[in-house]
Amino acid sequence: MSTLESLTAHTDRLHPEPAPQSALLNLRSLLNSKFGFQAFRNHQEEVCLHVATGRDVLLVMPTGAGKSLCYQLPGLARGGTTLVVSPLLALIEDQVDKMKRLGLRADRIHSGRTRDESRSACVQYLLGKLDFLLIAPERFSVPGFLAMLQKRKPTLIAVDEAHCISQWGHDFRPDYRTLGEHLQALRPANVVALTATATPVVQDDICKQLRLTDEARLIHGFRRNNIAIQLMEAQPSQRLPLIQSLLKKDQSRPAMIYAPTRKVAEQLFEGLKSQFRVGIYHAGLLPQVREKNQSQFLQGNLEVIVATVAFGMGVDKANIRTVIHAGLPGSIEGYYQEIGRAGRDGHPSRAILMHAYVDQRTHEFFLGRDYPEVSVIKQIFEKLKPEKIHSDILKQDFASDFKSPQNQPEGAFEKAIEKLVIHRGAAIDFEGCVTVGVASWEKSYVEQRRHKEKMALQMSQFTQLHFCRMLGLIQYFGDQKDPGTPCGVCDSCDPSQAPLGVRPLTREEQGWVAQIMATLSVNDRRASGRLHKDLLEDSPAITRFDLERILEVLVKGGWVSLAHESFEKDGKSIPFKTVSLTSQGQRAKADDLARLKIAGDLPSRPKTPKKGARPRKRRKS
Ligand code: ADP
Ligand code: MG
Repeated sequence: MSTLESLTAHTDRLHPEPAPQSALLNLRSLLNSKFGFQAFRNHQEEVCLHVATGRDVLLVMPTGAGKSLCYQLPGLARGGTTLVVSPLLALIEDQVDKMKRLGLRADRIHSGRTRDESRSACVQYLLGKLDFLLIAPERFSVPGFLAMLQKRKPTLIAVDEAHCISQWGHDFRPDYRTLGEHLQALRPANVVALTATATPVVQDDICKQLRLTDEARLIHGFRRNNIAIQLMEAQPSQRLPLIQSLLKKDQSRPAMIYAPTRKVAEQLFEGLKSQFRVGIYHAGLLPQVREKNQSQFLQGNLEVIVATVAFGMGVDKANIRTVIHAGLPGSIEGYYQEIGRAGRDGHPSRAILMHAYVDQRTHEFFLGRDYPEVSVIKQIFEKLKPEKIHSDILKQDFASDFKSPQNQPEGAFEKAIEKLVIHRGAAIDFEGCVTVGVASWEKSYVEQRRHKEKMALQMSQFTQLHFCRMLGLIQYFGDQKDPGTPCGVCDSCDPSQAPLGVRPLTREEQGWVAQIMATLSVNDRRASGRLHKDLLEDSPAITRFDLERILEVLVKGGWVSLAHESFEKDGKSIPFKTVSLTSQGQRAKADDLARLKIAGDLPSRPKTPKKGARPRKRRKS
């Protein structure tokens, strides 16, 4: 871009200042003098030292652990400018604001700023007057921007929310995709990639995509001792009254409620507003409204916020007492990050997850919407040529190809093009002209789609976990330094803390247990589906859900153990589980039945029979 070129013409000879040695030794004094902190938090010093001495670093620490300091402090210590790439404008604004208040020289360039403002930030950068320059990743697609940065390279590059670069992560952002390539042009600056959420696969991918070399991987602190994770099976219609009663106690607020869709968020908001000071946040609201609600919640003027996953990246509110998921999240990564917003002040907090089988339908819907069928994408790909075609023309073709009954949902064309670009089946330029890419996009896309499905499956398997919930999460993230002890506060470790308490088994349930034990003593390692069929012969009333609840009780009581297995069908792996008696179970006596406890029941739903519906006949046993 000519403006930028003319700007940079006279600054060719500017280079980053060398890192002053004294400052390297002085991390601690800077911590105090610049940031006003008395001491490092866990792991911060180790990370800062690595970054300050010029290593590439991948840092994975939970939200609220203090990752920003891990690039800000070494950035200051090294001198020159630290370039910070961050995915959301709101996050960038917030960070710049915080840094300025500390007296640091920080500015930002993004699409929300005027030309003059961005120009001024460039000038300041080129004159070496900025400690920090924050940008959104899409800035690199502005012609001339990279060349401007190259005129006076940054000393350090921080990539915040780095999981967004991995298509295996839960929050992949296409704009992050080409980041690694661009950063290469800014070497020798070292790179620190920061995220709160990355499984080992995602960690590998981040390092590969960003082309980190000989990086130190610092994966720390997934365990959160003060969050009691509690799960409850509840149908969508039961969730509002449950939330109303869960939030009644003053100690349970401030609270965040994650809704699976905008529509559900609206419904919950409507249902809660007469009882609580509640706000709402989702991507369908006007930015002013959204931001107002967010800041009202952060400042404490609202005590409850109902939000979709659009809320929260980088949100820093210390005293959230309860995080409720009114529906099954799409991935464990997302779930962990969302519950991590509870109890940042270290005080006891709860994370309650409401789920039901129907939630899987919601995820199937999202998958279909966000990941079009391969055949749909192919239709566009086959029209592409080495010569440019404007995307508006392709879009018209697409609309006529997919007239009803094959009608595609709103936005399907944009999604399809986005996927083609990500998987390099197409390239799109700044003016919206598309050219053909490589045919291998298909394989790569199919893999990503499968991965997405797998993430949702893993989330639903998490609800069936029969040991410490926190430990389940820690193992998922591969935090190898964790001691591996149960948390003691989740509903698995301490069933009495379940949202609805516990009760003894009913006579009917005790009868089921006796039957299960009798069946297993003859047929050990019974698949749970088979076991259900066995039970139905004598107890036609037992549902699959009943059986799962009873098995959970028996596993916790040490009477049976479960093993997860799978078989192949039509090229897909179908998971199932088998049930076996433990030696304690073999010794169990009828008297022991009275000691078993099961999670309390949901308040029963008011029965409103549909008009004209005949009363259901009960099956005779
Ligand atoms: P993350 O990016 O890991 O989610 P932040 O960098 O936003 O976390 O930090 C969370 C909060 O912790 C901020 O309010 C920050 O000022 C505070 N903080 C960070 N480091 C320290 C420290 N050493 N001592 C006290 N507070 C700190
Ligand atoms: Mg952060």
